Amino acid sequence: MTRPVQKTNAQWQAILQAKGAEPDALAVTRHAATERPFSGKYQAHWADGSYHCICCGAKLFDSVSKFDAGCGWPSFREAAPDAIEDIVDRSHGMLRTETVCAQCGAHLGHVFEDGPAPRGLRYCMNSASLEFQSGKNPSDPGADPPS
Ligand SMILES: [Zn+2]
Repeated sequence: MTRPVQKTNAQWQAILQAKGAEPDALAVTRHAATERPFSGKYQAHWADGSYHCICCGAKLFDSVSKFDAGCGWPSFREAAPDAIEDIVDRSHGMLRTETVCAQCGAHLGHVFEDGPAPRGLRYCMNSASLEFQSGKNPSDPGADPPS
């Protein structure tokens, strides 16, 4: 599949190292590995801001959509518009929906249909796939203008 952002594994590795990404970021984003539960840096991270793809920087989630699912991975009830692509995943003998970055195809995690109302979705993400940027949601009326 053709994606807007395409690089080799070596190029991604260089980008991830330059960003100071988690050691398993390449395995997670490019080889669909899953970090251990309760090990990720964003699992219990509740600051205001937004979460971006660690590979290409595309915005994926606002902090307001994050919730504590108790599953050991950062969980979100709603993704940014058109940021994420769903792929049917039949690996490990399960039928799941894999989520990848729509821009670069980075593996992010899975989406489950047991999330909170009204949408009922739970985006179960790997911290290693995410990069947090602090700051108020730009759509907040009280947010400062970008400098
Ligand atoms: Zn990406």
